[in-house]
Amino acid sequence: MPKHVYLFSEGNAEMRDLLGGKGAGLAEMTRLGLPVPPGFTITTKACVSSMKRGKFPPGLRKQVFAALATVEQASGKRFGDAANPLLVSVRSGSKFSMPGMMDTVLNLGLNAKAVEGLAHLSGDRRAALDAYRRLLSMFGRIVKGIEAAKFEDLLTAHKRKAGAARDTDLDERALEALLADYRALYRAAAGEAFPEDPRKQLLQAIEAVFRSWNGKRAVDYRNAMKIPHDLGTAANVQAMVFGNLGEDSGTGVVFTRDPATGERRAYGEYLANAQGEDVVAGIRTPMRIAELEAKLPDLYAELAKHLALLERHYKDVQDVEFTVERGKLYVLQTRAAKRTAAAAVRIAVDMVREGLVSREEAILRVDPQQVYQLLLPRFDDAAKEEAHRAGKFLAKGLNASPGAATGVAILHPDRAEELGRQGKPVILVRQETSPDDVHGMLHSKGILTSRGGATSHAAVVARGLGLPCVAGCEAITVDYAAGEFRAGERIVREGEPISLDGATGEVFQGLIPTVQPAFEEQRELQEVLSWGDGLRRLQVWANADYPRDARVARRHGAQGIGLCRTEHMFFEPERLPLVREMILARNRGERQPWLDRLLPLQRADFLGIFREMGDLPVVIRLLDPPLHEFLPKYEELIEEVAKLKVAVHNPDALVTSAGTEADRRFLKEVTERGEGDVGEGIRRLLPEKERLLAAVAREREQNPMLGLRGCRLGITMPEVTEMQVRAIFEAACALKKEGVDVHPEVMIPLVGHVNELRHQRMTLEPVARQVMEEQGVQVAYKVGTMIEVPRAALTAGEIAEHAEFFSFGTNDLTQMGFGYSRDDAEGKFLLKYVDMHILPENPFQVLDRDGIGQLMRLAVERGRKARPDLKVGICGEHGGDPESIEFCDALGLMYVSCSPYRVPVARHAAAQATVRSRGAGSAQDK
Ligand code: ADP
Ligand code: MG
Ligand code: MG
Repeated sequence: MPKHVYLFSEGNAEMRDLLGGKGAGLAEMTRLGLPVPPGFTITTKACVSSMKRGKFPPGLRKQVFAALATVEQASGKRFGDAANPLLVSVRSGSKFSMPGMMDTVLNLGLNAKAVEGLAHLSGDRRAALDAYRRLLSMFGRIVKGIEAAKFEDLLTAHKRKAGAARDTDLDERALEALLADYRALYRAAAGEAFPEDPRKQLLQAIEAVFRSWNGKRAVDYRNAMKIPHDLGTAANVQAMVFGNLGEDSGTGVVFTRDPATGERRAYGEYLANAQGEDVVAGIRTPMRIAELEAKLPDLYAELAKHLALLERHYKDVQDVEFTVERGKLYVLQTRAAKRTAAAAVRIAVDMVREGLVSREEAILRVDPQQVYQLLLPRFDDAAKEEAHRAGKFLAKGLNASPGAATGVAILHPDRAEELGRQGKPVILVRQETSPDDVHGMLHSKGILTSRGGATSHAAVVARGLGLPCVAGCEAITVDYAAGEFRAGERIVREGEPISLDGATGEVFQGLIPTVQPAFEEQRELQEVLSWGDGLRRLQVWANADYPRDARVARRHGAQGIGLCRTEHMFFEPERLPLVREMILARNRGERQPWLDRLLPLQRADFLGIFREMGDLPVVIRLLDPPLHEFLPKYEELIEEVAKLKVAVHNPDALVTSAGTEADRRFLKEVTERGEGDVGEGIRRLLPEKERLLAAVAREREQNPMLGLRGCRLGITMPEVTEMQVRAIFEAACALKKEGVDVHPEVMIPLVGHVNELRHQRMTLEPVARQVMEEQGVQVAYKVGTMIEVPRAALTAGEIAEHAEFFSFGTNDLTQMGFGYSRDDAEGKFLLKYVDMHILPENPFQVLDRDGIGQLMRLAVERGRKARPDLKVGICGEHGGDPESIEFCDALGLMYVSCSPYRVPVARHAAAQATVRSRGAGSAQDK
């Protein structure tokens, strides 16, 4: 017979898998000799088995009642006894803490007889009746699914009738009448009477707690937190203690350090004459722990002793539940405290100083996401407090994606896009969002929704875009028709300013100033990062296209540039016309003059970046995107040509309504210069347009992402490669002469066959040599390739013979490996796939280890075999994602390269990867 039940005295902290976090904590505290009311834990395994079988596994009931007998003995009370009744709670608790997501039933064991026994024992019949009342409503709600509001309504009605302001003002008579109504409600709603048999109550409560593992709240939470769904919850059965037996009783929650700032002082709240749930429910205003210290110094001293012991024992900040029954202290729960990003960093640093944890352990205590949060703009604390004081607070929703956002409230995605494009800060406010709203989200500073949880579309997309988001803010009503949203009495019209705090879920009226925390000034963060720098194996480089990006990257600690894309420079307004002409040229001869004009511009770009990076490596990728990206849209051109043709006969229509702005300007100039009328202008414009249209038609592709792009461009137009390489080396030589030890690395994109790489190498090497000869200096450089076409990964051995380095372009590799076009997939079906659990996550955000990851592994192995000193890195967006970074570390890459703003995150994630690979890890989950 498997062991389903463990007494608290039989378990310990290591048994989280089996006993859940709460059960393991209660067992460990019992072992440490803390005052824990006696009890036992029914295992997570028993829960999983019950869920599967639809009933308890054999032997469970027997073991439960055997354990209950032990608790009866320990407490000297009997379950269901009329004179001396034992009451118990049944408390959920899984391996990973899911606060408030599952159910707990208190006061089990009461019935018409036992309530009188409790009255006698406590000497407080009113309190006993109150406990019974709570049991009826809690049991009804959790075990039978009766709406809580129905019980609430009865309570309110009775309070009104009795003229009672607070629950505690109801006297015995009033409570008895209320109890009768509760029983009737229970019978009507559940179709049976409330079970008077305490054993039935207990078993049904255990079953309900098990069931709550699959409740909607719990499932949503696990999806959001990526907690597996097959773990199950334990059920903890524990003797009740009462915090509601008068002023010398009470209940509280206390953190061993301030979870908001990390400051080393007990922080929490205490409510006299109350049961546990009352603190959370916010029924009365509790006192601060500091007040408790002043009012009940002996009690506080005992509590402080336990807190210190727990923190030392677990070597982490604890979040502790306690209850005082007639002056006697009981500890009911301990767990690692959830904390803000700032607190996490401060606590990590302090605990290393106090000698409580090692640097490695401290590194694991700070989540990479928290590093990111610390770099986001946030509201100025004083200004936020002021907003609260001034009554600007509107509502609080789910803190779905961190960061502070201010802007005008806009209810429609089209309008959000329109205003966003004009550079106006917009906050998109919706009931909920769908893939049809993404264009609006892309142009917003923040997202606010009235519905949906942590895995709602709004939350997922906002996190993906790094946008602050408050989701599921049920206190607001969004009224599209009226063009406003309401928070209680308050109305915010579309276009009025609001502020969102994505880290706390708060929404305010008006604009609250934000501050951008200076990275250099966050000394504790710097300290943690520097510990990581001292031990991490992976280097962190950055993707930077401009000198200003390179500067940010260096400030954030980048050790090189892993990807400098040259195409962004081509989009600059004064260059685009040159680039277009270059593309439209029909042959090398026609193209060369345009390339000659682009050369000095590119050289200046590279000079700037090299100068920023000094002696650090800079990987420059040759031209990559499909050329149509530089040209006007085909459909628009067709329309313009058609309009111009019509306008030849009716010029006035065009001037006022149609044509591009540039066209209208041209026409105006023609007439102003007196060169002819508008018709004349159009006759001149038309052939130009038609030439452009013909060219665009020629370049048009069915699948541009799989078309003429990457090295295919440089192979069909070698003169473009030659120009770019000349620009790179002229810049490098110039700096070398200034005494800077530059390290350019030329990267060929989209290679699928080794001959493509060989061709580009043969094109570029003579140019490099020639420039160095002209300049009379030698520059040490490398030539390498992106690995982003699956075939390149498979033939990496051959490719490595012609490449000094590989850089994984995991965006394209994922795109081509899955056969998804990213632009289409993310908008259409990919988020749905994740929702339906067809994919565990968006593979463009978190590297798919099982598929794409295997291509990478192969490429590393085959590449290194052919060339042992091959340098391998990653420059896809995954290079900034902590989970993907851990995988890159395991693959043995030399570096990850990511956006300059994610460099600190990547440094930290890389450090964690090293620490974890050495086998360190913390025991307690937060
Ligand atoms: P949660 O995980 O949602 O915090 P808990 O199981 O901790 O749920 O219980 C909810 C509340 O009831 C807590 O305040 C807790 O301290 C209180 N509570 C649970 N069991 C007992 C008990 N045996 N005696 C007194 N209070 C209890
Ligand atoms: Mg709790
Ligand atoms: Mg690519």
